[in-house]
Amino acid sequence: MLSVKGLMAEVGGKEILRGLDLEVAPGEIHAIMGPNGSGKSTFAHVLSGREGYTVTGGSVTFDGRDLLELEPEERACVGLFLAFQYPVELPGVNNTYFLKAALNAMRKYRGEPELDAVSFMRLMKDKLKILHLDDSLLKRPVNFGFSGGEKKRNEIFQMALLEPKLAILDETDSGLDIDALRIVADGVNALRSPERSMIVVTHYQRLLDYIQPDHVHVLAKGRIIRSGGKDLALELEDKGYGWIVEEEAAA
Ligand code: ADP
Ligand code: MG
Ligand code: MG
Repeated sequence: MLSVKGLMAEVGGKEILRGLDLEVAPGEIHAIMGPNGSGKSTFAHVLSGREGYTVTGGSVTFDGRDLLELEPEERACVGLFLAFQYPVELPGVNNTYFLKAALNAMRKYRGEPELDAVSFMRLMKDKLKILHLDDSLLKRPVNFGFSGGEKKRNEIFQMALLEPKLAILDETDSGLDIDALRIVADGVNALRSPERSMIVVTHYQRLLDYIQPDHVHVLAKGRIIRSGGKDLALELEDKGYGWIVEEEAAA
């Protein structure tokens, strides 16, 4: 599904990713952890094609395509979904309208017919039910005045509706309370499927009490320096990151 080989990238003229390797198969959940400033968010931004992030080496293949060749909107259309901790607020734009426009733009790109209003409403209702959400957020402007928890709900709802092949959730920075963590975890678990992969970027071992990852990786200084299973996350909670970074440096 996703194959990252020797990825190198700069932000603001500073080299941040230094040879990152990662393989994600369909249906897998990967957790990326690591010290603050190690490049976790940079990696997510680079995959999304965000402006200002320059790839200087390596390759990224997504579902058989060269991901780095695609424009950011195209990346979404081929099934990549990125959720960031601080979603953009769109004060004048109705949330339902926005979601319908996004979904239909993706369908158009894929050569699928647009959904009419009735089919779209039916789809929204299905997804709300799967996630146990009510529809109160849908009438409001996109993320405008939403609480942290409401933004998380909206982000997960957006993911449910757009049905990505690969979702990347960057939950790294502080400020996520336990309720928000649960919203993310419940959403990830409800949307888990044999075809859908997810990468969850987190500082918090706590999040992994609710999401069972197939693989856990430690990102430090722009590279993945250790990979393991759920046990690795427990070990990290217990011992921190320092020992791995030291072992890596010694090797
Ligand atoms: P993490 O998410 O692992 O905490 P980040 O990817 O946010 O780490 O940051 C990695 C490094 O890149 C940090 O040293 C940070 O200061 C630097 N960085 C991030 N964005 C920029 C930018 N726009 N200009 C210069 N340096 C940046
Ligand atoms: Mg950080
Ligand atoms: Mg970060």
